[in-house]
Amino acid sequence: MCSVTILGCGVGRFGAALLAKQLGYDVFVTDSGIIKQEYKDTLMQLNIPFEECGHKNYDKILKADVVIKSPGILNDSDIIKKVKQCNILILDEIDFASKFTTATLIGVTGTNGKSTTSYLIYNILKNAGLNVDICGNVGRSLAYSIYNDLGRKINYYVLELSNLQLEYFKYCHLNIACLLNLTNNHLDRYNYDFNKYVMAKKNILKNMTHDDHFIYNENDQVIKNIVDNENIIPKLHPISLDNSVQRHDGTITSKFKDSEFKVKEQDLSIKGEHNIFNCLVAIRVAQILGINNNIIADALHNYIPLPHRIEKICTINGVEYYDDSKSTTVASTLAAMNMFKNGSKHIIWLAGGYDKGNDYSQMFSIISSDIKLIVCIGKDNSTIVSAFKKLEVEIYESHNMYDAVEYSKEHSCCGDVILLSPACASYDIYKNFEERGDVFKQNVTKILKMGK
Ligand code: ADP
Repeated sequence: MCSVTILGCGVGRFGAALLAKQLGYDVFVTDSGIIKQEYKDTLMQLNIPFEECGHKNYDKILKADVVIKSPGILNDSDIIKKVKQCNILILDEIDFASKFTTATLIGVTGTNGKSTTSYLIYNILKNAGLNVDICGNVGRSLAYSIYNDLGRKINYYVLELSNLQLEYFKYCHLNIACLLNLTNNHLDRYNYDFNKYVMAKKNILKNMTHDDHFIYNENDQVIKNIVDNENIIPKLHPISLDNSVQRHDGTITSKFKDSEFKVKEQDLSIKGEHNIFNCLVAIRVAQILGINNNIIADALHNYIPLPHRIEKICTINGVEYYDDSKSTTVASTLAAMNMFKNGSKHIIWLAGGYDKGNDYSQMFSIISSDIKLIVCIGKDNSTIVSAFKKLEVEIYESHNMYDAVEYSKEHSCCGDVILLSPACASYDIYKNFEERGDVFKQNVTKILKMGK
Protein backbone atom coordinates (compact mmCIF):
# COMPACT_ATOMS: atom_id res chain seq x y z
CA MET A 1 0.00 0.00 0.00
CA CYS A 2 1.21 3.48 -0.80
CA SER A 3 1.52 5.89 2.10
CA VAL A 4 0.70 9.59 2.11
CA THR A 5 1.61 12.31 4.56
CA ILE A 6 -0.68 15.31 4.63
CA LEU A 7 1.29 18.37 5.67
CA GLY A 8 -1.03 21.05 7.03
CA CYS A 9 -4.72 20.20 7.38
CA GLY A 10 -6.45 23.15 5.71
CA VAL A 11 -9.43 22.78 3.42
CA GLY A 12 -7.48 21.29 0.51
CA ARG A 13 -5.38 18.81 2.45
CA PHE A 14 -8.37 17.69 4.52
CA GLY A 15 -10.04 16.75 1.23
CA ALA A 16 -6.85 15.03 0.10
CA ALA A 17 -6.69 12.99 3.33
CA LEU A 18 -10.24 11.75 2.79
CA LEU A 19 -9.70 10.97 -0.89
CA ALA A 20 -6.40 9.18 -0.21
CA LYS A 21 -8.05 7.08 2.51
CA GLN A 22 -10.95 6.25 0.17
CA LEU A 23 -8.42 5.14 -2.42
CA GLY A 24 -6.77 2.79 0.08
CA TYR A 25 -3.65 4.79 0.92
CA ASP A 26 -2.06 4.66 4.36
CA VAL A 27 -2.63 8.28 5.45
CA PHE A 28 -1.03 10.37 8.20
CA VAL A 29 -1.98 14.01 8.85
CA THR A 30 0.35 16.47 10.57
CA ASP A 31 -0.25 20.16 11.24
CA SER A 32 1.96 22.76 12.90
CA GLY A 33 -1.15 24.48 14.27
CA ILE A 34 -4.53 23.42 15.62
CA ILE A 35 -6.73 21.36 13.28
CA LYS A 36 -10.40 22.43 13.03
CA GLN A 37 -12.60 20.38 15.35
CA GLU A 38 -14.96 19.23 12.55
CA TYR A 39 -11.95 18.00 10.54
CA LYS A 40 -10.61 16.12 13.57
CA ASP A 41 -14.00 14.48 14.16
CA THR A 42 -14.08 13.21 10.57
CA LEU A 43 -10.44 12.05 10.65
CA MET A 44 -11.20 10.07 13.81
CA GLN A 45 -14.37 8.57 12.31
CA LEU A 46 -12.39 7.44 9.29
CA ASN A 47 -9.49 6.13 11.37
CA ILE A 48 -7.01 8.55 9.87
CA PRO A 49 -4.21 9.20 12.41
CA PHE A 50 -3.19 12.82 12.91
CA GLU A 51 -1.06 15.10 15.04
CA GLU A 52 -1.39 18.84 15.61
CA CYS A 53 0.52 21.77 17.15
CA GLY A 54 3.79 20.68 15.55
CA HIS A 55 5.31 18.17 13.14
CA LYS A 56 6.65 15.64 15.63
CA ASN A 57 6.24 12.10 14.41
CA TYR A 58 9.09 12.12 11.91
CA ASP A 59 9.06 8.33 11.60
CA LYS A 60 5.60 8.50 10.12
CA ILE A 61 6.03 11.75 8.22
CA LEU A 62 9.20 10.72 6.47
CA LYS A 63 8.23 7.16 5.68
CA ALA A 64 5.61 8.38 3.18
CA ASP A 65 5.88 7.77 -0.55
CA VAL A 66 4.07 11.06 -1.19
CA VAL A 67 3.74 14.28 0.78
CA ILE A 68 0.77 16.51 -0.01
CA LYS A 69 1.64 19.89 1.35
CA SER A 70 -0.21 23.05 2.19
CA PRO A 71 0.60 25.79 -0.34
CA GLY A 72 1.36 28.14 2.54
CA ILE A 73 4.32 26.11 3.88
CA LEU A 74 7.51 27.79 2.77
CA ASN A 75 9.94 25.88 0.56
CA ASP A 76 12.83 26.62 2.89
CA SER A 77 11.00 25.55 6.05
CA ASP A 78 12.65 22.81 8.14
CA ILE A 79 9.95 20.29 7.41
CA ILE A 80 10.14 20.72 3.62
CA LYS A 81 13.95 20.54 3.77
CA LYS A 82 13.68 17.21 5.63
CA VAL A 83 11.10 15.84 3.19
CA LYS A 84 13.34 16.85 0.28
CA GLN A 85 16.40 15.23 1.91
CA CYS A 86 14.46 11.95 1.99
CA ASN A 87 13.60 12.31 -1.73
CA ILE A 88 9.90 12.04 -1.05
CA LEU A 89 7.61 13.20 -3.84
CA ILE A 90 5.90 16.48 -2.87
CA LEU A 91 2.57 17.26 -4.50
CA ASP A 92 -0.13 19.87 -4.30
CA GLU A 93 -3.61 18.66 -3.37
CA ILE A 94 -5.08 19.57 -6.77
CA ASP A 95 -2.23 17.87 -8.59
CA PHE A 96 -2.77 14.71 -6.54
CA ALA A 97 -6.58 14.75 -6.84
CA SER A 98 -6.63 15.46 -10.57
CA LYS A 99 -5.31 11.94 -11.22
CA PHE A 100 -8.57 10.49 -9.93
CA THR A 101 -11.11 12.16 -12.17
CA THR A 102 -11.87 11.87 -15.87
CA ALA A 103 -13.72 15.20 -15.91
CA THR A 104 -12.66 18.02 -18.25
CA LEU A 105 -10.33 20.29 -16.27
CA ILE A 106 -10.35 24.04 -16.87
CA GLY A 107 -7.59 25.88 -15.01
CA VAL A 108 -7.47 29.63 -14.43
CA THR A 109 -4.43 31.49 -13.21
CA GLY A 110 -2.85 34.94 -13.40
CA THR A 111 -1.96 37.66 -10.96
CA ASN A 112 -5.43 39.24 -10.93
CA GLY A 113 -8.91 38.20 -11.99
CA LYS A 114 -8.68 34.49 -11.18
CA SER A 115 -11.77 34.27 -8.96
CA THR A 116 -13.92 36.48 -11.17
CA THR A 117 -12.99 34.58 -14.34
CA SER A 118 -13.35 31.18 -12.68
CA TYR A 119 -16.83 32.05 -11.44
CA LEU A 120 -17.80 33.51 -14.84
CA ILE A 121 -16.83 30.20 -16.49
CA TYR A 122 -18.58 28.18 -13.79
CA ASN A 123 -21.78 30.21 -14.20
CA ILE A 124 -21.83 29.80 -17.96
CA LEU A 125 -21.33 26.03 -17.68
CA LYS A 126 -24.03 25.78 -15.00
CA ASN A 127 -26.36 27.86 -17.15
CA ALA A 128 -25.73 25.39 -19.96
CA GLY A 129 -26.95 22.59 -17.68
CA LEU A 130 -23.56 20.90 -17.39
CA ASN A 131 -22.45 19.05 -14.26
CA VAL A 132 -19.73 21.38 -13.10
CA ASP A 133 -17.96 22.19 -9.85
CA ILE A 134 -15.57 25.02 -9.00
CA CYS A 135 -12.55 24.25 -6.80
CA GLY A 136 -9.04 25.30 -5.91
CA ASN A 137 -8.08 28.72 -4.66
CA VAL A 138 -11.76 29.63 -4.28
CA GLY A 139 -11.67 27.79 -0.95
CA ARG A 140 -13.15 24.48 -2.17
CA SER A 141 -11.09 21.36 -2.44
CA LEU A 142 -10.92 19.35 -5.67
CA ALA A 143 -9.95 16.29 -3.65
CA TYR A 144 -13.01 16.68 -1.44
CA SER A 145 -15.28 17.14 -4.45
CA ILE A 146 -13.93 13.96 -6.08
CA TYR A 147 -14.21 12.10 -2.75
CA ASN A 148 -17.84 13.21 -2.49
CA ASP A 149 -18.77 12.57 -6.11
CA LEU A 150 -19.11 8.85 -5.74
CA GLY A 151 -21.47 8.57 -8.70
CA ARG A 152 -18.84 10.43 -10.73
CA LYS A 153 -21.49 12.79 -12.03
CA ILE A 154 -19.30 15.87 -12.26
CA ASN A 155 -17.77 16.10 -15.70
CA TYR A 156 -16.32 19.63 -15.63
CA TYR A 157 -14.11 21.20 -13.00
CA VAL A 158 -13.20 24.88 -13.04
CA LEU A 159 -9.98 25.21 -11.03
CA GLU A 160 -8.75 28.54 -9.75
CA LEU A 161 -5.00 28.07 -9.39
CA SER A 162 -2.67 30.26 -7.36
CA ASN A 163 1.09 30.36 -7.86
CA LEU A 164 1.43 28.45 -4.59
CA GLN A 165 -0.76 25.64 -5.89
CA LEU A 166 1.08 25.58 -9.19
CA GLU A 167 4.57 25.43 -7.63
CA TYR A 168 4.34 21.67 -7.08
CA PHE A 169 2.36 20.72 -10.18
CA LYS A 170 3.69 17.53 -11.72
CA TYR A 171 0.85 15.39 -13.06
CA CYS A 172 -2.17 17.62 -13.49
CA HIS A 173 -3.33 17.66 -17.09
CA LEU A 174 -5.63 20.55 -17.86
CA ASN A 175 -7.78 20.47 -20.97
CA ILE A 176 -8.14 24.24 -21.01
CA ALA A 177 -5.67 26.61 -19.33
CA CYS A 178 -6.29 30.36 -18.94
CA LEU A 179 -3.44 32.75 -18.10
CA LEU A 180 -4.88 36.21 -17.45
CA ASN A 181 -1.88 38.41 -16.64
CA LEU A 182 1.50 38.32 -14.90
CA THR A 183 2.65 41.23 -12.78
CA ASN A 184 4.62 41.53 -9.55
CA ASN A 185 3.09 39.51 -6.74
CA HIS A 186 4.24 37.33 -3.85
CA LEU A 187 7.81 38.43 -4.51
CA ASP A 188 8.55 38.08 -0.80
CA ARG A 189 8.15 34.32 -1.31
CA TYR A 190 10.54 34.19 -4.27
CA ASN A 191 13.49 36.19 -2.95
CA TYR A 192 12.22 39.16 -4.96
CA ASP A 193 12.90 37.23 -8.19
CA PHE A 194 9.93 37.76 -10.56
CA ASN A 195 11.16 34.94 -12.82
CA LYS A 196 10.61 32.40 -10.08
CA TYR A 197 7.00 33.56 -9.73
CA VAL A 198 6.56 33.28 -13.51
CA MET A 199 8.09 29.76 -13.47
CA ALA A 200 5.45 28.64 -10.95
CA LYS A 201 2.64 30.11 -13.06
CA LYS A 202 3.96 28.42 -16.21
CA ASN A 203 3.37 25.03 -14.60
CA ILE A 204 -0.25 25.46 -15.67
CA LEU A 205 0.89 24.29 -19.14
CA LYS A 206 2.53 21.10 -17.89
CA ASN A 207 1.27 17.89 -19.49
CA MET A 208 -1.00 19.69 -21.98
CA THR A 209 -1.34 18.09 -25.42
CA HIS A 210 -2.10 19.28 -28.96
CA ASP A 211 -5.79 18.64 -28.32
CA ASP A 212 -5.86 21.08 -25.39
CA HIS A 213 -6.36 24.83 -25.35
CA PHE A 214 -4.35 27.74 -23.94
CA ILE A 215 -6.24 31.02 -23.57
CA TYR A 216 -3.97 33.94 -22.73
CA ASN A 217 -3.67 37.70 -22.57
CA GLU A 218 -2.05 38.82 -25.80
CA ASN A 219 -1.38 42.31 -24.46
CA ASP A 220 0.58 41.12 -21.44
CA GLN A 221 4.24 41.44 -22.34
CA VAL A 222 5.46 38.76 -19.95
CA ILE A 223 2.95 36.23 -21.29
CA LYS A 224 3.66 37.24 -24.86
CA ASN A 225 7.38 36.58 -24.31
CA ILE A 226 6.57 33.10 -23.07
CA VAL A 227 4.35 32.36 -26.07
CA ASP A 228 6.84 33.83 -28.56
CA ASN A 229 9.92 32.11 -27.17
CA GLU A 230 8.81 28.79 -25.76
CA ASN A 231 7.40 25.67 -27.28
CA ILE A 232 3.74 25.85 -26.28
CA ILE A 233 1.97 22.62 -27.16
CA PRO A 234 -1.79 23.30 -26.78
CA LYS A 235 -3.85 25.31 -29.28
CA LEU A 236 -3.33 29.01 -28.77
CA HIS A 237 -6.17 31.45 -28.08
CA PRO A 238 -4.77 34.97 -27.75
CA ILE A 239 -7.27 37.39 -26.23
CA SER A 240 -6.94 41.12 -26.74
CA LEU A 241 -9.28 43.80 -25.48
CA ASP A 242 -8.32 46.11 -28.36
CA ASN A 243 -9.22 43.54 -31.01
CA SER A 244 -12.48 42.56 -29.36
CA VAL A 245 -14.20 45.78 -28.25
CA GLN A 246 -15.64 48.40 -30.59
CA ARG A 247 -15.16 51.55 -28.58
CA HIS A 248 -17.76 53.65 -30.44
CA ASP A 249 -20.73 51.45 -29.52
CA GLY A 250 -19.38 49.12 -26.80
CA THR A 251 -19.88 45.92 -28.81
CA ILE A 252 -17.74 43.05 -27.62
CA THR A 253 -17.02 40.34 -30.19
CA SER A 254 -15.40 36.95 -29.83
CA LYS A 255 -14.77 35.07 -33.08
CA PHE A 256 -14.08 31.36 -32.83
CA LYS A 257 -13.85 29.03 -35.83
CA ASP A 258 -16.93 29.81 -37.94
CA SER A 259 -18.97 31.34 -35.18
CA GLU A 260 -19.12 34.79 -33.66
CA PHE A 261 -20.37 35.79 -30.23
CA LYS A 262 -21.48 39.38 -29.71
CA VAL A 263 -22.57 41.18 -26.56
CA LYS A 264 -22.99 44.84 -25.60
CA GLU A 265 -20.81 46.15 -22.78
CA GLN A 266 -23.91 47.43 -20.98
CA ASP A 267 -25.37 43.92 -20.96
CA LEU A 268 -22.53 42.58 -18.80
CA SER A 269 -23.26 42.58 -15.08
CA ILE A 270 -19.65 43.50 -14.22
CA LYS A 271 -17.97 46.72 -15.24
CA GLY A 272 -14.49 47.97 -16.07
CA GLU A 273 -11.97 47.11 -18.78
CA HIS A 274 -10.41 44.39 -16.67
CA ASN A 275 -13.77 42.67 -16.30
CA ILE A 276 -14.49 42.85 -20.04
CA PHE A 277 -11.21 40.98 -20.46
CA ASN A 278 -12.23 38.41 -17.84
CA CYS A 279 -15.55 37.95 -19.69
CA LEU A 280 -13.73 37.44 -23.01
CA VAL A 281 -11.68 34.63 -21.48
CA ALA A 282 -14.82 32.98 -20.08
CA ILE A 283 -16.59 33.39 -23.45
CA ARG A 284 -13.72 31.63 -25.22
CA VAL A 285 -13.84 28.70 -22.78
CA ALA A 286 -17.58 28.41 -23.47
CA GLN A 287 -17.02 28.59 -27.24
CA ILE A 288 -14.43 25.80 -27.07
CA LEU A 289 -16.95 23.69 -25.18
CA GLY A 290 -19.60 24.41 -27.84
CA ILE A 291 -21.99 26.29 -25.57
CA ASN A 292 -24.80 28.16 -27.30
CA ASN A 293 -24.40 31.96 -27.64
CA ASN A 294 -27.72 32.78 -25.93
CA ILE A 295 -26.73 30.72 -22.90
CA ILE A 296 -23.39 32.54 -22.67
CA ALA A 297 -25.02 35.98 -23.01
CA ASP A 298 -27.64 35.13 -20.42
CA ALA A 299 -25.01 33.90 -17.91
CA LEU A 300 -22.88 37.04 -18.36
CA HIS A 301 -25.91 39.24 -17.86
CA ASN A 302 -27.07 37.46 -14.71
CA TYR A 303 -23.64 36.96 -13.13
CA ILE A 304 -23.65 38.20 -9.53
CA PRO A 305 -20.34 40.02 -8.87
CA LEU A 306 -18.24 38.63 -6.05
CA PRO A 307 -18.06 40.77 -2.90
CA HIS A 308 -14.98 42.90 -2.10
CA ARG A 309 -14.10 43.40 -5.80
CA ILE A 310 -14.82 47.09 -6.52
CA GLU A 311 -18.10 46.54 -4.70
CA LYS A 312 -20.22 49.65 -4.37
CA ILE A 313 -21.36 50.13 -0.78
CA CYS A 314 -23.33 53.36 -0.98
CA THR A 315 -23.52 56.95 -2.22
CA ILE A 316 -23.97 59.57 0.50
CA ASN A 317 -24.04 63.31 -0.24
CA GLY A 318 -22.69 62.57 -3.70
CA VAL A 319 -19.70 60.63 -2.33
CA GLU A 320 -19.40 57.02 -3.54
CA TYR A 321 -17.90 54.33 -1.27
CA TYR A 322 -16.29 51.23 -2.80
CA ASP A 323 -14.88 48.09 -1.18
CA ASP A 324 -12.07 46.57 -3.29
CA SER A 325 -10.45 44.76 -0.36
CA LYS A 326 -9.56 41.82 -2.64
CA SER A 327 -7.04 44.05 -4.39
CA THR A 328 -3.67 42.98 -3.03
CA THR A 329 -1.46 44.04 -5.94
CA VAL A 330 -0.57 47.29 -7.68
CA ALA A 331 -2.08 46.03 -10.96
CA SER A 332 -5.48 45.28 -9.44
CA THR A 333 -5.57 48.64 -7.66
CA LEU A 334 -4.72 50.33 -10.96
CA ALA A 335 -7.63 48.44 -12.55
CA ALA A 336 -9.93 49.88 -9.87
CA MET A 337 -8.55 53.43 -10.16
CA ASN A 338 -8.85 53.31 -13.95
CA MET A 339 -12.58 52.71 -13.56
CA PHE A 340 -12.98 56.07 -11.81
CA LYS A 341 -10.23 58.07 -13.54
CA ASN A 342 -11.39 61.40 -14.95
CA GLY A 343 -8.33 63.59 -14.59
CA SER A 344 -9.54 65.46 -11.51
CA LYS A 345 -8.34 64.90 -7.96
CA HIS A 346 -11.48 63.19 -6.67
CA ILE A 347 -10.39 59.76 -5.38
CA ILE A 348 -9.61 59.16 -1.71
CA TRP A 349 -7.54 55.99 -1.65
CA LEU A 350 -7.39 53.71 1.39
CA ALA A 351 -4.17 51.81 0.92
CA GLY A 352 -1.63 49.54 2.55
CA GLY A 353 -1.32 46.33 4.52
CA TYR A 354 1.21 43.55 4.11
CA ASP A 355 3.36 44.60 1.15
CA LYS A 356 4.39 41.59 -0.96
CA GLY A 357 7.12 43.49 -2.80
CA ASN A 358 5.19 46.22 -4.65
CA ASP A 359 6.69 48.58 -7.19
CA TYR A 360 4.57 51.70 -6.79
CA SER A 361 6.23 53.70 -9.56
CA GLN A 362 3.57 52.54 -12.07
CA MET A 363 1.02 54.46 -10.01
CA PHE A 364 2.73 57.85 -10.01
CA SER A 365 0.83 59.19 -12.99
CA ILE A 366 -2.68 58.31 -11.77
CA ILE A 367 -1.85 59.38 -8.22
CA SER A 368 -0.83 62.79 -9.54
CA SER A 369 -3.87 63.19 -11.76
CA ASP A 370 -6.72 61.63 -9.78
CA ILE A 371 -5.86 60.98 -6.14
CA LYS A 372 -6.85 63.66 -3.67
CA LEU A 373 -5.76 61.91 -0.48
CA ILE A 374 -4.00 58.67 0.47
CA VAL A 375 -5.21 57.19 3.75
CA CYS A 376 -2.83 54.46 4.94
CA ILE A 377 -4.45 51.56 6.77
CA GLY A 378 -1.54 49.13 7.22
CA LYS A 379 0.45 48.28 10.32
CA ASP A 380 3.63 49.47 8.63
CA ASN A 381 3.01 52.09 5.96
CA SER A 382 6.62 53.06 5.33
CA THR A 383 6.84 51.74 1.73
CA ILE A 384 3.71 53.62 0.68
CA VAL A 385 4.74 56.81 2.44
CA SER A 386 8.23 56.76 0.96
CA ALA A 387 6.93 55.92 -2.54
CA PHE A 388 4.44 58.81 -2.71
CA LYS A 389 5.84 61.53 -0.46
CA LYS A 390 7.54 63.17 -3.45
CA LEU A 391 4.20 63.66 -5.18
CA GLU A 392 1.75 66.44 -4.49
CA VAL A 393 -0.74 64.38 -2.56
CA GLU A 394 -1.69 64.40 1.09
CA ILE A 395 -0.84 61.18 2.95
CA TYR A 396 -2.58 60.39 6.22
CA GLU A 397 -1.53 57.47 8.42
CA SER A 398 -4.67 56.28 10.18
CA HIS A 399 -4.79 54.55 13.56
CA ASN A 400 -7.51 52.06 12.69
CA MET A 401 -10.25 51.50 10.10
CA TYR A 402 -12.73 53.71 11.96
CA ASP A 403 -10.25 56.56 11.93
CA ALA A 404 -9.47 55.89 8.25
CA VAL A 405 -13.14 56.06 7.20
CA GLU A 406 -13.88 59.08 9.39
CA TYR A 407 -10.88 61.02 8.05
CA SER A 408 -11.79 60.10 4.47
CA LYS A 409 -15.37 61.22 4.94
CA GLU A 410 -14.34 64.52 6.53
CA HIS A 411 -12.06 65.28 3.58
CA SER A 412 -14.53 64.29 0.85
CA CYS A 413 -16.98 66.35 -1.10
CA CYS A 414 -19.75 65.72 -3.64
CA GLY A 415 -18.38 63.85 -6.68
CA ASP A 416 -15.59 62.11 -4.77
CA VAL A 417 -14.94 58.38 -4.61
CA ILE A 418 -13.72 56.75 -1.39
CA LEU A 419 -11.95 53.60 -2.52
CA LEU A 420 -10.61 50.84 -0.28
CA SER A 421 -8.22 49.11 -2.70
CA PRO A 422 -5.15 48.36 -0.57
CA ALA A 423 -2.72 46.87 -3.17
CA CYS A 424 -1.43 44.84 -0.22
CA ALA A 425 -2.40 41.65 1.56
CA SER A 426 -4.58 41.92 4.65
CA TYR A 427 -2.85 39.63 7.12
CA ASP A 428 -0.80 42.30 8.88
CA ILE A 429 -4.00 43.19 10.77
CA TYR A 430 -6.92 41.08 9.53
CA LYS A 431 -7.63 37.38 9.16
CA ASN A 432 -8.20 37.78 5.43
CA PHE A 433 -9.37 40.24 2.77
CA GLU A 434 -13.02 39.44 3.56
CA GLU A 435 -12.58 40.55 7.17
CA ARG A 436 -10.78 43.74 6.06
CA GLY A 437 -13.60 44.56 3.63
CA ASP A 438 -16.29 43.79 6.20
CA VAL A 439 -14.61 46.01 8.82
CA PHE A 440 -14.48 48.80 6.22
CA LYS A 441 -18.18 48.38 5.39
CA GLN A 442 -19.19 48.25 9.07
CA ASN A 443 -17.31 51.47 9.79
CA VAL A 444 -18.77 53.23 6.76
CA THR A 445 -22.27 52.30 7.94
CA LYS A 446 -21.48 53.26 11.56
CA ILE A 447 -20.02 56.65 10.70
CA LEU A 448 -22.71 57.52 8.20
CA LYS A 449 -25.47 56.51 10.66
CA MET A 450 -23.96 58.73 13.31
CA GLY A 451 -24.25 61.53 10.75
CA LYS A 452 -20.64 62.43 11.41
P1 ADP B 1 -7.84 37.05 -7.91
O1 ADP B 1 -8.64 35.84 -7.59
O2 ADP B 1 -6.78 36.80 -8.94
O3 ADP B 1 -7.33 37.78 -6.72
P2 ADP B 1 -10.30 38.55 -8.33
O4 ADP B 1 -11.20 38.22 -9.45
O5 ADP B 1 -10.71 38.13 -6.97
O6 ADP B 1 -8.85 38.04 -8.67
O7 ADP B 1 -10.04 40.11 -8.31
C1 ADP B 1 -9.07 40.65 -7.41
C2 ADP B 1 -8.82 42.09 -7.70
O8 ADP B 1 -8.25 42.25 -8.99
C3 ADP B 1 -10.07 42.93 -7.66
O9 ADP B 1 -9.71 44.08 -7.01
C4 ADP B 1 -10.40 43.16 -9.11
O10 ADP B 1 -11.03 44.39 -9.29
C5 ADP B 1 -9.04 43.12 -9.81
N1 ADP B 1 -9.10 42.45 -11.12
C6 ADP B 1 -9.97 41.52 -11.54
N2 ADP B 1 -9.70 41.11 -12.78
C7 ADP B 1 -8.59 41.78 -13.18
C8 ADP B 1 -7.79 41.78 -14.37
N3 ADP B 1 -8.10 41.01 -15.41
N4 ADP B 1 -6.72 42.63 -14.40
C9 ADP B 1 -6.41 43.42 -13.35
N5 ADP B 1 -7.12 43.46 -12.21
C10 ADP B 1 -8.20 42.66 -12.11
